[in-house]
Formats: sequence, C-alpha cells, structure tokens
Amino acid sequence: MRERIWLSLAHMGGREQEFIREAFDTNWVVPLGPNVDAFEKALEDYLTGDTGEERHVVALSSGTAALHLGLLLLGVERGDEVVCQSFTFSASANPIVYQGATPVFVDSEEGTWDMDPVLLEEAIKDRLRKTGRLPKAIVPVWLYGMPGRIGEILEVAGRYGIPVLEDSAEALGSAYKGRKCGTFGEFAGLSFNGNKVITTSGGGALVCRTEAMAKRAMFYATQARESAPHYQHERIGYNYRMSNICAGIGRGQMFVLDEHVWRRRENHARYAELLGGVPGVEVKGQPGGGDYASNYWLTCVTVDPGGAGFTREDLRLALEEENIESRPLWKPMHLQPVFKDAPFYGNGTSERLFEKGLCLPSGPTLREEDLERVVAVVRKLAGR
Ligand SMILES: *Cc1c(COP(=O)(O)O)cnc(C)c1O
Repeated sequence: MRERIWLSLAHMGGREQEFIREAFDTNWVVPLGPNVDAFEKALEDYLTGDTGEERHVVALSSGTAALHLGLLLLGVERGDEVVCQSFTFSASANPIVYQGATPVFVDSEEGTWDMDPVLLEEAIKDRLRKTGRLPKAIVPVWLYGMPGRIGEILEVAGRYGIPVLEDSAEALGSAYKGRKCGTFGEFAGLSFNGNKVITTSGGGALVCRTEAMAKRAMFYATQARESAPHYQHERIGYNYRMSNICAGIGRGQMFVLDEHVWRRRENHARYAELLGGVPGVEVKGQPGGGDYASNYWLTCVTVDPGGAGFTREDLRLALEEENIESRPLWKPMHLQPVFKDAPFYGNGTSERLFEKGLCLPSGPTLREEDLERVVAVVRKLAGR
C-alpha cells in the first residue's frame, strides 16, 4: 500500500518550539501570557495590514468559542432568531443554540458557494412577516476559504440594521476587494484547529472592531469575573481563553502563514490545470474580475455523473482504494436531523453541492507527486 495522502495536515514552520520553550523557561504555563499578547498583535497586524483599519483580536480556546462570544456580544438571547448559512460546518450554527436562539438557515449561491444575498433578504422579510421581529444577527461563512458576495450581504444587512458575524474560520488569508476576510463584520470568528490554515493544536480568535468590545470578550472568556479583590460575579461567564502554550504555536505559525496560503493556492492552480480537460469534473474556482482572493483552504471538485460517467462517491471510493483521503462537501445544516425544525430558505444549491462535491487533499505539505497520484485516479475513472 502506498503512503497515505491526507486531506489537510498541519505543518510546523520551525519557530513554534522556541516560543513554547520561552513559556516554559519563564514559567508562563497558564492561560494568558506574553505569547497570547504577541499572537493577538500579530493577527491584528496581519488582518489590517496597511489599510489603516483598526481591529482587536482576542485569542480563544476554539473558533466555536469565538462565534459564541460574538453572538453573546451582539446581544443574541433566548427567543431570538439568527440567520446562518446552511452550507457549512455545524460549528457555525451550534453557538446560536447555546444562546437559546433559533437558527434560520439560508442557502448558497453558485458563484461562491456562500450565502445567497437575494435569499438572505427574502428570509429577513419573511421572518419579519411571520414573527414581527427582525433576526438579531447574520452569520455568513466563507466556506473552503472562498469570500462570499460580501458587498451585497453587507448591503442587505445594513438596510435592515442587522449586524454581521463573519464565520471566517476557514478563510484566514482570503481577501475581498483587497481587504482580508475577518474584517468586514461587526465581529469575526477565526479557527486554529489542526486542519485549518494555521494551527495552535486547537484554538480560535474573535476579531472585534473596538478595544472596548475586545475587553468585553475577554471578560466573558475569563468567567466574567468583576474587578474586586474577591471573586465577584454578576453575569454568567465562560472559560474560553487560549493558553500561553497554544499561543506559542500560533506565534510560530504566523511566520509560515503566507507560505501556507501560497501553497494551498498553488495546489488549487495545479488541480485546475491537470483536471481541466476531464469531462464532468469541475474544479471550483473563485469568481473572476479580481474582487475575490480565496486562500483555497481546500480544493473542491464537483462531479456531474452525466458528463463524467461516474459519481462523486465512485471517485471518493477510488481515491480511498489508492490510500488517498478525500471528503464530501459539508452536509447542509437544514438536512441535519438536529436542525430539522429550524426555518430554511432554499434554492437547491447546497443540496446539489453536497451530492456532487468532493474535497481533495490540499495541505501545505502536499507534494507534486502526491497531487499527480490524486489526478491519476480521476483520469483513470474518466477512462483517459
Ligand atoms: C473549523 C470551523 C469552525 C470551528 O472552529 P473550531 O476551532 O474547530 O471550534 C467554525 N466554522 C467553520 C466553517 C469551520 O470550518
């Protein structure tokens, strides 16, 4: 059996251990500390660059925690509704339920596979008609690193005065009209789980517009402890802060972030080139025109059985046969049993993509010969 090719593996740049050692040497083996501060600062600089924008990053124990705190700070509470992209990972929607609110799922559009701004507006109008209230927040997701129709989504949100919480967990390094994903919403969640663009072994961050909001996030992330010499609590808090050890890994990863994004984009470009001529197989690319710059976290293909002569599942099994890991696209939330009672505004896009789509190995350590092994399986199935 040939060596396994994984979907997406972490890759250490080399300096991670240096920062971890520093934490040990100075006995900062606790939540918070110098690595956390430095990692947050590095992320702020990375996200805003030379745009003159101001953002404040709070490093947390996971991307899910970041989305949860974002909803909390937007005032989402029991009885509220929150619009969420249906085509996503469950972690986009679960925190809505943590807050006692109800997710309202909205389908995707073909160009970006992200939230359809036209359906979004229909959903908002219909919720207003049916419940007499507007949704409390909108959670679009930049899936597989692809920035969505951000301009139109923000326009609809602005028209109704509903704040946007970006789920940018997969989109670190992606940009829309020259601005980094994670800087568009009132808040944004990032993830540093093991298979994301950079990792802290597990972790996330909340991107805030103001220092005051970042301070609120830190307050809730550290058990909502009031300032008093004793332990005083007037609200329910969480233990969501990142440890100084994990942040040391994150600090080291910041040195290879650009390289990771570049490598994932290279993987995508090679797949697009090599699979270009295979009928019925389409490598998903970003919309043209220069507004969209995906980090191509994972390269995705769709298989049209009519044109290809095989199905997505045939391809997945053929890859597995060659010891190559691949994965169907996210199963939409409106099809998940756990969300079966949630309202859904659909157009068929996410269901079709779930049926036809597959993620190919896309990690930063994928070699040319690995990529060629993947491509050879597709070509063999296609009979060419
Ligand atoms: C990974 C991911 C999250 C959650 O991040 P964790 O750090 O794993 O909690 C949220 N949304 C999306 C779309 C993700 O891919």
